[in-house]
Amino acid sequence: MLSYTYFGEKDFRLVDKPVPKLECDTDALVKVTLSSICTSDLHIFNGSVPRAVRGITVGHEAVGEVVAIGEKVKNLKIGQRVSVNVETFCGECWYCRRGYVNNCVSPLGGWALGCRIDGMQAEYVRVPFADTGLTVIPPDVKDIQALLAGDILATGFWAAKISEIGEGDDVLVIGAGPTGICSMLSAFLKNPRRVYICDVSEERLEFVKKHYPEAVTVRSEEVLEKLRAECPRKGADRVIEAAGTEASFRLAWEAARPNAVVSVIAMYDAPQILPLPDMYGKNLTFKTGGVDGADAKEILTLISEGKLDASRLITHTFPLSEAPAAYELFASRRDGVMKVALDCTLKGR
Ligand SMILES: [Zn+2]
Ligand SMILES: [Zn+2]
Repeated sequence: MLSYTYFGEKDFRLVDKPVPKLECDTDALVKVTLSSICTSDLHIFNGSVPRAVRGITVGHEAVGEVVAIGEKVKNLKIGQRVSVNVETFCGECWYCRRGYVNNCVSPLGGWALGCRIDGMQAEYVRVPFADTGLTVIPPDVKDIQALLAGDILATGFWAAKISEIGEGDDVLVIGAGPTGICSMLSAFLKNPRRVYICDVSEERLEFVKKHYPEAVTVRSEEVLEKLRAECPRKGADRVIEAAGTEASFRLAWEAARPNAVVSVIAMYDAPQILPLPDMYGKNLTFKTGGVDGADAKEILTLISEGKLDASRLITHTFPLSEAPAAYELFASRRDGVMKVALDCTLKGR
């Protein structure tokens, strides 16, 4: 089968690999329909994910069809359409039982697929802990609508959840890229007063204006002034930082009103500084980290009910056989690209 494989820094190649086999009685084998490219894949490409294992197939967000299941898999049947979760998790350890699946203590727990074991930018993928790692897609949800449920929409959904957004809150999302937009869409589910979203890119703000006019778009340099003028408490009640730069990190705590919650979900290339003397007395609560991807079922239900739709973020689709061109476009941010899907059925081959 065709697989897009990590060989080393700046070295991903399309290669032929054997179709994977079940290795454990809790595994399932999935025939991949669509797979997405994520910024984390670019981090692997650029050599900034030390735990990524050379030789693995990349890709950690996909939809497909179950073609084989191990004897202990209880929740799945062959032939079902499923969303594949970015994280695999045992569902039984101390962390899993509390929903903190990113820190599952199993050796295959957390972000394994497409990082430490073969992932989904291939025709088939073996998924460990299939009962928790795969979620059946409701019949009225199309593959393209379900594609982002496993990673990026899960991240936005989790960000809105840990931010403890209440009714009537003013929410600020920093970064109008795919993660920021998914956070914004999830924030709307909590009945806020307003959701502001900022970016330094005019093109990305235009994208939001066009597709999600319910959000208030603002250029990053104008955020503080706008929130002071428009928000009852002169700042955001909840901030979700999804941009990942030094300036956006600073803006996150500056734009927050006293006693706000600031959720930092972005990945940074360098350590950031918290200037505690400058924020003394502001009494902020910071939350940090990477998604606990345990809400796929709820996300797919919300998609089915028409309450959550991120499919407009998928601006481009390429056949898997053109993965290098797809990556090049995604990394370049040309042509209004937001998210790129890879069609792994090889119809376009
Ligand atoms: Zn990702
Ligand atoms: Zn666990």
